This record gives sequence, C-alpha cells and structure tokens, in this order.
Amino acid sequence: MLRAEALDEAAEALEAAEEIVLVCHVNPDADALGSLLGLACFLGSRGKRVAATWPNGMADPPRWLEALPGREYLVEPKKLPKAPPMLVTLDAADPARLAGLEHLLKKSAAVVCIDHHRTNPGFGTINVVDGEASATAELVFRLIERMGGDLTPDVATCLYAGLVTDTGRFQYESASPEVLRIAAALREQPFDHAALAQILYEDNSLPYLRLLGKVLDRAAHEAEADLVWTYLTRKDLKEAGVSIQETDDLIDVLRTAREADVAAVLKEQREGGFKVSLRSRGKTDVAAVSAKFGGGGHRLASGYTSKQDLEETTKNLTRALAEARG
Ligand code: 5GP
Ligand code: MN
Repeated sequence: MLRAEALDEAAEALEAAEEIVLVCHVNPDADALGSLLGLACFLGSRGKRVAATWPNGMADPPRWLEALPGREYLVEPKKLPKAPPMLVTLDAADPARLAGLEHLLKKSAAVVCIDHHRTNPGFGTINVVDGEASATAELVFRLIERMGGDLTPDVATCLYAGLVTDTGRFQYESASPEVLRIAAALREQPFDHAALAQILYEDNSLPYLRLLGKVLDRAAHEAEADLVWTYLTRKDLKEAGVSIQETDDLIDVLRTAREADVAAVLKEQREGGFKVSLRSRGKTDVAAVSAKFGGGGHRLASGYTSKQDLEETTKNLTRALAEARG
C-alpha cells in the first residue's frame, strides 16, 4: 500500500524544485514513457526546468512515441546535467533497470522513485511505490492530483497511454472501479483517443506480421512446466527487416494459448543471451520465477535476462516452473 505521506513528500519536493531530471526504465513500454512524458508536461507547465530521458535507444524509439506529447522535454542521456538536484525515476523496479544511468542516483541530492512493481526495494530518497497500483501512470495521476494540478490534454494523453496498456486495455484484475474512474477523468480531456488506441494496438507492419507467423509456428508446449514458449533471434529480425521494438506484443499473442498457464518469449540480445518475458494466465507467480534469475516484475507479468544460450535458458526456465508448481 502507498503511504499517503509519500505522496505529500514527493509533491512538496517537486513543488520546491526548479530543475528536475526524469528517467524511466530501459526498453520503455507505454507506461514508462507515458508516465515520463505526462509528468514532464505537468512539471513543465508549472515552470520547472525539465529534462526527460531513458537509457539506450533514444535513437531508435518505439513507433508509438510519436503519439505522445511532451517529446520536447526529451534529451539524450549524455546531455543531462551531471548532478541534477532532483531526479525522478519512473516505472523502474530497481537501479539496474536504469541501465547505465544508475550513477544519477548517487549524484542527485534527492531521488523520487515512482513505481508499481512489487519487487521495487524503494531505492529513492522518497518512494512513491505501490505494488497494487495498476500502472506507474496511476501513481503519477495521484501525484499531480496531490499537487493540485489541473489535467491538460497533453498530460491526459500520456497517462492514458500508460493506464490502458498496463491494464491490458482495462482487462486485468488491476482494472478496479477506481482505475476506471481515473481513466474516465483522463478521457474527459479532449485528445484523439481513437488515434492513440490505433497506434498503440493496431499499427503493425506486414513484415512484422509475417515474422509473428514464423515465431508462433515454432511455439512449443512443455506440459510438465505448464508452459508455452517461443523464441526470436537476431537473425530472424534481420531476415524480416523488423526492429526489436516492433515485437513487443508478441508475448500478448502467445499468452492467449489456453493449453498452458505460463507463456514465455525469449528474445536474443544484440550482446548475446536472451531477454525472457513471462506471463501467467492467473495461477503462477511469475515475478517470483523471474526473481530467481535476477529479474522481477509483477505476479502475472515479469521478465529477466539470461546470459546463457537458448537451450540452457529454456532448460533452467522449465525446471524453475516445474519446481514452482511443486
Ligand atoms: P516485459 O516482458 O514486457 O519486458 O516485462 C514485463 C514486466 O516485467 C514489466 O513490468 C517489466 O518492468 C518487468 N521486467 C522485465 N524485465 C525485467 C528485469 O530484467 N528486471 C526486473 N526487475 N523487472 C523486469
Ligand atoms: Mn508499468
């Protein structure tokens, strides 16, 4: 549960700050970037000097970033102030998720950590961390509310993008009546809701759809681990002419398989090894499984990075899942 005082402390600290650096996790999803840019827009409208960034890959952003306002606040990580007086981290479950920007935590006088991952240890000096929140965007909404700020269409667009994606289009158990009320408050603002939904959910390229067909075709079912899984290599991407950012919803297709509770997609990394995404249809705590491998996340959606090859990675994963089933 979020302590009410944490919101007060964060609101006060941000109110007092003149210069604020915002950063979200590596390979940002729409909750990370929506929270980052939504808060940037709000603080910018309050006259703060704001710089927002994320580690690795600003040169190759997700396509849907163009649908989010506030991009004028984005700066390259290397152009950030060396020792920002105030740092805000968004949707980052632990310092390692800042992938190369961890040094900012030590150099900043104050760090407001805003996140909804249960595994977050609270690495800020002020922690707006609530494992029960549906999205980091929900926490940003509450913070803005606490700061007495009015919503604007720009802020609403960004936060809505975070909320709709992290609740699986308001499908998951986290989509409580309160969350739907927040969504309604955001939707009150005049922004192009249909255009935002389309770019978030219905904006694939034909090469990606063909690649999806190939990757689904090799999906395997490990009954003893209650798992369906598949993989994607760098070679697959190269041959298809598809960027890794385009493959984010692959796991969302695989997880619809009713044959198993857990779905896994293993994506080969540029530097070798695999990024593993896990989803449960409800019975398995996949955050605990990912934590065994140094990762984390939520009960029903988690991830980790494996330095091993495909065979070892799947062997270790199926073993961990079989053990988790007992
Ligand atoms: P995805 O599979 O979409 O990359 O991530 C699913 C969830 O797990 C997200 O909430 C994400 O923040 C979390 N997650 C993914 N990879 C890692 C990781 O390496 N470490 C931690 N702590 N969390 C992760
Ligand atoms: Mn999130």
